[in-house]
Amino acid sequence: MKKIPRNVLMKFTGITLWVFLAAQLLSGCSVAQSFMPTETPTSTATPLPTATPLPTPTPTEVPFYLDAAVMPLNQQAPILLYHRFIPDWEAKEAITFTRLSEFKNDLQKLYDSGFSLVSLKSWIDGTYLVPPGKKPLVITIDDFWFADQIYISEDGTPSPYSGIGVLWRFAQEHPDFGFSAAGFSNMGDKYYGDRQIGDKFFYGDNQDAMWLKLGQTIAWAIENGVEPYNHLLQHPMLSKTADKDIQWQIEENDRLTRYYLELAGRGDLIPRLGNMIALPFGEWPATYSGIEIIKKYQNQEGKPVEAIFEAYLYADKELTPSAFSNDFNRYNLARLTASEIMTQWLLQQAPDLPDAQSCRLGPLAQNQADDQAVIQGLISAAIQSGSCFEGAYHVGEQIFLARDGEVVPYSPPSIIAP
Ligand SMILES: [Zn+2]
Repeated sequence: MKKIPRNVLMKFTGITLWVFLAAQLLSGCSVAQSFMPTETPTSTATPLPTATPLPTPTPTEVPFYLDAAVMPLNQQAPILLYHRFIPDWEAKEAITFTRLSEFKNDLQKLYDSGFSLVSLKSWIDGTYLVPPGKKPLVITIDDFWFADQIYISEDGTPSPYSGIGVLWRFAQEHPDFGFSAAGFSNMGDKYYGDRQIGDKFFYGDNQDAMWLKLGQTIAWAIENGVEPYNHLLQHPMLSKTADKDIQWQIEENDRLTRYYLELAGRGDLIPRLGNMIALPFGEWPATYSGIEIIKKYQNQEGKPVEAIFEAYLYADKELTPSAFSNDFNRYNLARLTASEIMTQWLLQQAPDLPDAQSCRLGPLAQNQADDQAVIQGLISAAIQSGSCFEGAYHVGEQIFLARDGEVVPYSPPSIIAP
């Protein structure tokens, strides 16, 4: 850039100034820079080579595609069921106790075999999503809320001495594994251990503080992907429970969950509570009328039952079909009681379980990326061409169901109580 002496600048007027400005712009200098006094030494302007006229460039259309994640319709998920968690040094009182290191090992092996977590809600309503190449896995914990299952430390994260804390840390280290779990609660059969001493949890002396801590823990759970559900108030054996008590056991459990949330000042989270039931001992009522009470139960907000779960040991192990399967029966869904042998079995099954796929849709104009009708057409075309399969297509925020030769936008069906 040339240094312009002040006296020269003073002479610029009218059209002369504009010619000067234009010249400066063409030479690539900004106007502001041109008028800035600078110490840069004067350089001789190199004359530009005679411009060879270039052919006018035709704007190149960069082809635009959308990548859909496709959940195969025959996908099945292990819904694993854990109960209590104990430190490694502690003796097991029952098979329902899992050492924290065993839990972490399970997670590592399942992750290494290609499983990713999905929430129970999303599995049941068909909106679940795992990255292409991954298989869905659901983790549930029964007999909630024991502090060894979930305990929120002062820093706002779950304690590493609780099962949810182990899961939380594992998910931080393996973000593509995801973080979610469902906790089926018995609100009326225990206190909440509101104090942590070393790697164990204890009941404090002050019951008000205990209930407040429980309410805060429930709130943390809802906000962070641990879904609270119903395992009945006192873990009753339903085959020996009278109908009116079945109703009360379900209702009272729900009422207390809401009560503790209110106590913690988090009543705003109540509308986010779902309505799923895990049968205590995996056992049904003995009478038809008792079974109907559970299936027809509506929670305090009028939400019908979204799912009822049994619990299977190794001898009766069964994966759970997806909401798109003809075998899906929301009132009778399998879960697998976690154990070393169950994990081994899952690792053996993993290679045969269908992975989520990806499907490239397009080309399309970029401004059509949210256009439902355009995407529907592209999915149909991809399937007809044989390059992609039928399934639940996740495209951005939208889901499409491609099944039986049809492609339709998908949203979870509303539940009509039986
Ligand atoms: Zn239980």
